[in-house]
Amino acid sequence: PLRTAHGMEGVLGVEQEELVTLLGADESRMLDALASQSATSIERARLATEVQEASLREEGDRLRSALLTSISHDFRTPLASLLGNVTSVITYGELYDRPTRDEMLGVARMETERLSRFVRNLMDMPRLDAGAIGPRTEMVDISDVVGSAINGAERLLMRHELVIDMPAELPMVRLDFVLAEHVLVNLLDNAAKYSPAGSRIHVRARREGPWLQLTVSDEGPGIPAAALPRIFERFYRAHASDYHGAGVGLGLAICKGFMAAMGGRISAHNCPDGGGANFTVSFPIDAPGYDAATGALRGEPQP
Ligand code: ADP
Repeated sequence: PLRTAHGMEGVLGVEQEELVTLLGADESRMLDALASQSATSIERARLATEVQEASLREEGDRLRSALLTSISHDFRTPLASLLGNVTSVITYGELYDRPTRDEMLGVARMETERLSRFVRNLMDMPRLDAGAIGPRTEMVDISDVVGSAINGAERLLMRHELVIDMPAELPMVRLDFVLAEHVLVNLLDNAAKYSPAGSRIHVRARREGPWLQLTVSDEGPGIPAAALPRIFERFYRAHASDYHGAGVGLGLAICKGFMAAMGGRISAHNCPDGGGANFTVSFPIDAPGYDAATGALRGEPQP
């Protein structure tokens, strides 16, 4: 028996090539020692696995409760505004003039769109984990992605001044149009959510060595220094206490996953002069001489 102080881990069988004699006393003792050592090792390995499983379960429970808390909070507020606006228009529609009615319905539409983006983020996460989101890349003019994302986010950006800085001569890049647009809409949405109405949001494109970089920066409070290293983690929210529209801290995790799937990168920092947050996404340029996957010069040692 493979016995430990806490119980049995199994049984050890010994096979002899030929059945000569029964084991001698020395051999028996050695086998006993081996069995006892093996039993302890097996027990240690089993306990380690159990501890790991327990901590994974705990992590899962923590995520689930974070998710439930955020969902109940983040769904309730926009839903209340949606219901309030739609009910008012249905019940008292005649009492309001046209612009007021339009404004109320506009708010209802914006909240609906935000909720559906939020639900899409929630649904994308497990697909990303399972590797189900394979990028469909093609050569794309980055200004098309920017244009399409800005169109898609038009209503989110209504209260901000958008400043676009795109040099005319930019190389084409290989990317998945849908994923790249989704990343950009998420960044524009955040910029609008986390900066005051009336402030400016900058979108800049430039070439930086083997990378084509897109930067979205805002004039909000920026990201607290302590939060910067964690900003791309799932369910992480730096401004958890105040309401900034629906969201559970998944948007940036999705952006990071999508960028990685396209062989790109995403990074965050604050504008140096005490300005707002600055997010940069980089797509590898498929130029001869560069390795598109790593962005390094071919033949050069990797850093
Ligand atoms: P959320 O759904 O909470 O917006 P994200 O993953 O998009 O989730 O963002 C994670 C956190 O990063 C946000 O909760 C917010 O605290 C912070 N953040 C994101 N974008 C900005 C920004 N432009 N300015 C300041 N903080 C930001």
